[in-house]
Amino acid sequence: MSEEKEGEMIELGTKDFIKGKPFRVTDDDLEKRWGSPFRCQLCGHWFKAGDEGRWVYANFKDSPFKGGDFFVCGGCDGEDVLERAGKIREESKRTHWWLWHMVDVERENARHR
Ligand SMILES: [Zn+2]
Repeated sequence: MSEEKEGEMIELGTKDFIKGKPFRVTDDDLEKRWGSPFRCQLCGHWFKAGDEGRWVYANFKDSPFKGGDFFVCGGCDGEDVLERAGKIREESKRTHWWLWHMVDVERENARHR
């Protein structure tokens, strides 16, 4: 990676992620809880120290991805990452509807616990 790009990186956990800049995973990052598994939304890669990643801002009106902000690894990142993530999500709802059904049931159950 060029030094120029390294200089544009942000610290994970700051609001800077909205600017769309990547981060470099540190050991500290791995210790923290981010409210969701620390994995790439597209390929499932578990982040490890030294990896490049980005926290993709997706929680806006008319976002092509209707699942909230998410992490993406350097290998999967790209300008069309929101469209690709949205497509995967919609496709999985169509083909893996039973899995989504189970998630919904689980959520319902949790609500009544
Ligand atoms: Zn990935």
